[in-house]
Amino acid sequence: MTPTSRKCTACNNMMPEDASFCPVCGHDFRPLAESRPRVRRTPMPLLAGGLIMVSGLSQLIVALELLVVYGSEVPSLQEEDAVIIISAVSMMMVGPLAVAGGYYALRRTRFAWALVGGVLTSSIAILTTAYGTGTLIALGLLATILLVGSKDEFDEL
Ligand SMILES: [Zn+2]
Repeated sequence: MTPTSRKCTACNNMMPEDASFCPVCGHDFRPLAESRPRVRRTPMPLLAGGLIMVSGLSQLIVALELLVVYGSEVPSLQEEDAVIIISAVSMMMVGPLAVAGGYYALRRTRFAWALVGGVLTSSIAILTTAYGTGTLIALGLLATILLVGSKDEFDEL
């Protein structure tokens, strides 16, 4: 062993002391910051996550209100009321998904879940625009745009 060589920690073969890569196995010995270009972090995922969570929670509240109001009138329900109840039940299911997606966006992880949350929260709100969920469509769309624009900041898909 010459003083200017060292053992590769990955494959145990000898390699030059100052080498950035092991000539045998190609192991990268550069400092992490140098080898992996850092993605610039923007507030976009945080904003998107907040919007999705607010939208998801709002939909849960609207859905509960609708179910309470219409649930008490079950015997006299008209056909158009059934549509509202189906919408409310859908929102009850989408709400928690949106909250989870928003949470992942805040953590900058699981991009696909965050995106599903953003898309679902805006599309389900279309069903109940008559009950003041128009704002939620806009929030969800804005969140989705922010997510797509900051995809690179997420740890995993
Ligand atoms: Zn090696």
